[in-house]
Amino acid sequence: MTTSKRSRLPGIGMSRNDILSHLDKIKLDPVRGHWSKAFRATPDVQDLGSKVYQDFFSDNGIFSLRVPYMRNIEEQVIEMCLSVVNGSDNSAGNMTNGGSESIYSALHAIREWAREHKPHVHEPKVLVPYSAHPTFSKGGHYFGLRIERIPLGDDFRVDVKAMAAAIDGDTVALVGSAPCWPYALYDPIEKIAALAIQHNLWMHVDACVGGYLAPFLTKLGYKLPRWDFTVPGVMSISADLHKYGYCPKPCSTILWQDASLQKYHFVHPSDWPGGQYSTTGFAGSRMGGAIFAAWAVMSYLGEDGYIRMAKRVMDLKAEITTKINEIDELEVWETDLLPLPIRGTGVDIGKVSAALMTRGYIILGTQQPPLINLPIDAAVDETVISTFLRDLKEIVVGITRGDIDSGSSLVYG
Ligand SMILES: *Cc1c(COP(=O)(O)O)cnc(C)c1O
Repeated sequence: MTTSKRSRLPGIGMSRNDILSHLDKIKLDPVRGHWSKAFRATPDVQDLGSKVYQDFFSDNGIFSLRVPYMRNIEEQVIEMCLSVVNGSDNSAGNMTNGGSESIYSALHAIREWAREHKPHVHEPKVLVPYSAHPTFSKGGHYFGLRIERIPLGDDFRVDVKAMAAAIDGDTVALVGSAPCWPYALYDPIEKIAALAIQHNLWMHVDACVGGYLAPFLTKLGYKLPRWDFTVPGVMSISADLHKYGYCPKPCSTILWQDASLQKYHFVHPSDWPGGQYSTTGFAGSRMGGAIFAAWAVMSYLGEDGYIRMAKRVMDLKAEITTKINEIDELEVWETDLLPLPIRGTGVDIGKVSAALMTRGYIILGTQQPPLINLPIDAAVDETVISTFLRDLKEIVVGITRGDIDSGSSLVYG
């Protein structure tokens, strides 16, 4: 007799009904669980994405460089994406399994480019804003790059003077976020890119969260800082289709300003019995459903659809901001874009976050300064908003009175 509490593969398979009813019991409440399923568009878009995902559920993206039915679709997705970020006819790109993989792709290409262009550098260094995504640090670890985080200015954007001062003989690349996740603020991309040109460095823009939202807001007349391939010096951009591109997860893009930069990305070995092994990036087998669903969602929304979604998201942002600011103990931080940072002015926001968790919410947070980051998407509806605000008010009152104490928690991931 085993006494281990660990799960084992069932000796006899469970019934379909038992499986489905078990999962039904544990799944998130759709209203409170809404926020952790970001980023989604309106139900018609989700429905099409899910249908196409199912239809190509077992297709393997590993074939996408070879097999026309898939290669053509993937190329069209990339070309649509490049047109959104103002790429030229010489720009190129690759689909990936998420923002992290897109950032790894950039860091890997940076290392290869530096080996060729800066052969004297033995300990290559990449300068990133303090607020840049932690994936840059993970990637530095994987690829043997030193990631130096540059302090932010008083406006919580990277201090470009400090970045300039940190450039030395080992520096190979500069990074800026458009915008960063914690504060939804743009780093001064044009200034960073100018520094990159001046010092002959690679410049990467992390537009994972904003890349497929900002261009449509610009079309609506919103004034946002410039960050895309129209900025001289920007060589690569990471932008997530599974965020404001509204494509089913996992789906992101790494975009190269010029196809000549993409060569630092590809690794196509042939030193095995199977001959040349050509893949689009880090992954071997990939979810085919995500590739076809991305094509379907982008084709369905079109520019007018993305503009409509962008307008909806900004209207929701304004509505939620007003209502949260009506709660005395909370305050929404001024941002360029999204997610929406909420601070506690009269309450410990970490306690609010922990209490939200006990009610079925999963919302990411930031520690410096303490805030929660609300990922408003086009699928947020009135029920989601009113339930959230009611819970938020009850929790704030409960914490203030000392009736609620669920600990304190502010984490990302
Ligand atoms: C979401 C995000 C990432 C990471 O993307 P994943 O898809 O979670 O791997 C990187 N940078 C920024 C700015 C992001 O918002």
